[in-house]
Order: sequence, then C-alpha cells, then structure tokens
Amino acid sequence: MTDNSVHAAIRQKLHSAGRILIFSHIRPDGDAVGSLLALGLALQEAGKQVEMVLKDGVPGGFRFLTGSDQIMPAPSGPADLFIVVDVSELSRIGEGFDLGQPDIQVDHHITNLNFARLNLVEPEAVATSAILAECLPLWGLSISLPVAEALLVGIITDTIGFRTSNMTPQALRIAANLMETGANLPDLYDRSLSQRTFEAARYWGKGLNSLQREDRLIWATLSRDDRRAVGYNGNDDADLTHVLSSVIQGNISVLFIEQNDHRVKVSWRARPGWDVSKIALQFGGGGHPAAAGADIDGTLQEVIHQVLEATRKVLLGTRPLR
Ligand code: 5GP
Ligand code: MN
Repeated sequence: MTDNSVHAAIRQKLHSAGRILIFSHIRPDGDAVGSLLALGLALQEAGKQVEMVLKDGVPGGFRFLTGSDQIMPAPSGPADLFIVVDVSELSRIGEGFDLGQPDIQVDHHITNLNFARLNLVEPEAVATSAILAECLPLWGLSISLPVAEALLVGIITDTIGFRTSNMTPQALRIAANLMETGANLPDLYDRSLSQRTFEAARYWGKGLNSLQREDRLIWATLSRDDRRAVGYNGNDDADLTHVLSSVIQGNISVLFIEQNDHRVKVSWRARPGWDVSKIALQFGGGGHPAAAGADIDGTLQEVIHQVLEATRKVLLGTRPLR
C-alpha cells in the first residue's frame, strides 16, 4: 500500500478544490470508464463540480452505468485540479489537451511513468477501480450504489471475470464489499463482459478467420475492411483478445487492429511467466506483464512483421520468468 502521506495530500487537494477535471485513457476499457465515473460521482456527491473526460467517449457497452452520460470528449474550461485515472503515460489521455502536469494520478500499470505531482500507483492492484474502492473512504468520500457499480465493472473487466493471474483474495473481498453496497454482480458481469452485439460477433468471425499459429505464438488481424463488411462501429478489438489468449497452444497471442493506412493498434496477451509489457514498451506502448498494448506507425503488413519478430525473440530467446 502507498504510504499515508500520499493519502493525506490527495485528501487535502480534493477537499480544497472547487472545480475538478478527471480524465482516463483513449479507447477506454471498463476500468477506464469505471474508475473515472467512480471518482467523479463520489466527488460530485461530496459537493464538487466535476467534469469527466474521455477523448473517445464511452463505449456503447458501458453506457448503462449511471453518470456515463456526463462524460464528455473534452473539458469545457480550466479547473482547480487535474486528475487522471488508469493512465500509464500522459499521452494516453489523447491529443489536443494542454493542461500541463496532472495534480493527481491513480493507476495500476507496471509501466507507469509517475508523471503527476501526486502519484498513487500500485502495480499489484488488479484494477485502478480496486485501488479507488479502498481509497475513496480514506479520502472522506463515500461509495454510493452508482459508485459501487462503476468500481465493480472496472474490477470485473480488468480481471476478465476474476480470472487473471494477478487475482488476490483481497480483490475478491473488495468485490464482495461492493456487492454489499447493493451492486448486482451477475447483472454487471453479464452486461460488461458477456453481452455483445451481432456486429461484434461477426467482427470476431473476421478476426478468427485470420488466426495463425507458429509454435507457441498465436496471432490474428482485424482490418478496416473487416469492420466495414460487418458494420462494426468502433476501432477496437471487441474483446477478441480474450478468445486469442484462450488458445491452449499459445504462450503469447498478438492481435493487430488496423487503425488507418499508417497506424496499427497491437494487443499482446501472455500466459503466466511471460512478460509482454516489455515488448509493448519497445514499441512506445505499455501495460502489464500478462496484457499490454501499443499504437504503432506503419501499414498492417509492416507492423505485423516487426511485432512478430520482436515477440518471437521473447518467446524463443529467453526462458519464462519462472
Ligand atoms: P489492450 O491490449 O486491451 O488495449 O491493453 C492491454 C493493457 O495495455 C491495458 O492495461 C492498457 O491500458 C495497456 N495499453 C494498451 N495500449 C497501450 C498504449 O498504447 N500505451 C500504453 N502505455 N499502454 C497501453
Ligand atoms: Mn486498468
């Protein structure tokens, strides 16, 4: 746990601010939306004026969360306090914001660069939402039902339903406490992790059709043509990484999601013992040992070539971490 002086400083800053801006990362996942909403709603309930910002907006699958309609693509003006959550490096909030150094950040990425004035970074935490679930009360903020729902969605999605290798008894206790606040775990689990649109299911089909394997390396691609063909709105992977990482012959899986003619989003997933965050860092990205990503310049073919080369080196050149 982070030492108490950081908590005292964060508490003091939160309580003395009037207007607060909170950001999370581009292509937001459940933990980005959940941690942003939880902190934003808890501060609003404490009487603060809060603006919550996601440059890419809220993905359709998370719009059921209370308060998600308040999340804007840009702030309306300056504020007393600039906070970022679930953001491992500042560029991840997206381009076009000139807000200087954040006052506070809360995050759990091992690749975090500690770029804020006050850094609450706990890489062993399963989700940024899990950190907030423990810290909001320390900062004098309460966990109402909408806050608990947002936090539980963040934890459910970042642990893919409590099954990532970093799961701990404490993470289950945090989830149990959130259930006791009234959050409906089966319903939130179903909405945030299981349900998908017809178009997303067909998009999976396109990606799975491209699946390839070379020894213990698994990869697949999702192109702009794939999205057009099935009518999938969005430039993400629709959580296809979960399927790739389930293939038992793979130690590392890689998904290439074409963004435009010269940019590709890459998602790595690894079995316990392999660290893909280091490969992502080489390409200007980041993440966790078991799940990492990067936005890489180049055509789909160029990026596939470079990334597979670097990933093969990790798979073939070194032994597993343990
Ligand atoms: P995903 O592959 O699902 O986008 O992300 C896996 C993990 O890597 C997440 O924790 C995510 O925050 C992180 N990640 C994904 N893309 C990037 C990136 O471009 N830069 C950094 N620093 N982290 C990323
Ligand atoms: Mn997260």
